[in-house]
Amino acid sequence: MIKLILLALCGFVFYSMISGLLRPGKNRRPKNRSKEGEVMVEDPQCGTYLPESEAIKANIHGKEYYFCSKKCLKEYKKIQNL
Ligand SMILES: [Zn+2]
Repeated sequence: MIKLILLALCGFVFYSMISGLLRPGKNRRPKNRSKEGEVMVEDPQCGTYLPESEAIKANIHGKEYYFCSKKCLKEYKKIQNL
């Protein structure tokens, strides 16, 4: 019976290692880059989420928007007729 529990434990450890390695996108950045829970902002143009510190901030009609690139900012302004 103990063998079975050990096997399950090994399987679990192995599984969490693999899923940690294979996790796409989100955890690509090294964790030490941002302190606990950096604010994520959404680019309204392309829908990308990125850390606030890396986003391009723009003030449109008194409201703050964040963009992943200048291209998105430009396109967003174009769409909004600014
Ligand atoms: Zn974008």
